[in-house]
Amino acid sequence: MNTTTLFGNSSAVIPPRPAEDSLTAFFWQGARDGKLLIHRCRQCQSYIHWPRPVCRFCLATDLSPAEVSGRGRLHTYTSATQAFHPYFLERVPYIIATVELEEQPGLMMVSNLVGVEPMAVQPNMLVEVLYREVAPGLTLPLFEPATTRRGGDR
Ligand SMILES: [Zn+2]
Repeated sequence: MNTTTLFGNSSAVIPPRPAEDSLTAFFWQGARDGKLLIHRCRQCQSYIHWPRPVCRFCLATDLSPAEVSGRGRLHTYTSATQAFHPYFLERVPYIIATVELEEQPGLMMVSNLVGVEPMAVQPNMLVEVLYREVAPGLTLPLFEPATTRRGGDR
């Protein structure tokens, strides 16, 4: 299967939906608006993902969404070959990736890596976010290999 069609919106099967709540609504709305919004502590300026009511670095409760670049480095990944939901039956294999966002060491985000065949994935490859509406009202931030090399080696 061509990975460029993965997580497209052509399937009649509705994908499983994340449980959007008052704490995570900004993240999903950001994705719908084409922005990657990450919780950031206003006291110590640390980014925190997933959204939480309390900063895990300084225990402050003054957190708010902040837009990040959407660029990062592939931390680790796996290729899923088993479909655990009918939506994924025609989409396996697909790549589940943990991306370290460039804004902060250790700021990890789990998503999918698209636009590259599983065998062509390189450790530490630079990636950038893209947004794909996979169902009405459900836009996912996914990652693809960065088109240009940015920032040099980290
Ligand atoms: Zn903090």
